[in-house]
Amino acid sequence: MPARMKTIAVVEDNIDNMLLVRIILQDLYELNEYDNGQSALSGIASAPPDLVLMDISLPDIDGVTVMQELRANKNLPAFPIFALTAHAMEGDKEKFLQAGFDFYMAKPLVDTSELLRVIAAHLDKASS
Ligand code: MN
Repeated sequence: MPARMKTIAVVEDNIDNMLLVRIILQDLYELNEYDNGQSALSGIASAPPDLVLMDISLPDIDGVTVMQELRANKNLPAFPIFALTAHAMEGDKEKFLQAGFDFYMAKPLVDTSELLRVIAAHLDKASS
């Protein structure tokens, strides 16, 4: 029997960015897509994924707050949360990692193989 396909929640309000993530990941993972923070919070709470890709600039709640609320929800298992954001100023990577994200990648996503590699590494770590 094949292993269960792992689930990644993608929180992204930009349609083009969502399409790109879908193209990169859809053959490898089951994707649960959310285009705002509130739907991500409720959707992830009712269907916890194995990993979350989080945009920062969302139409309602910013991605840092969404991440922190997910982390504070003791009913949820611990899953890696990555920041995927166009906030790519000097020091932003450190700022987002400090805030509690497990990984940070700037958008536009140029190095998709790096993203795939880091996702796989975190999922392996989580299941071992
Ligand atoms: Mn956005």
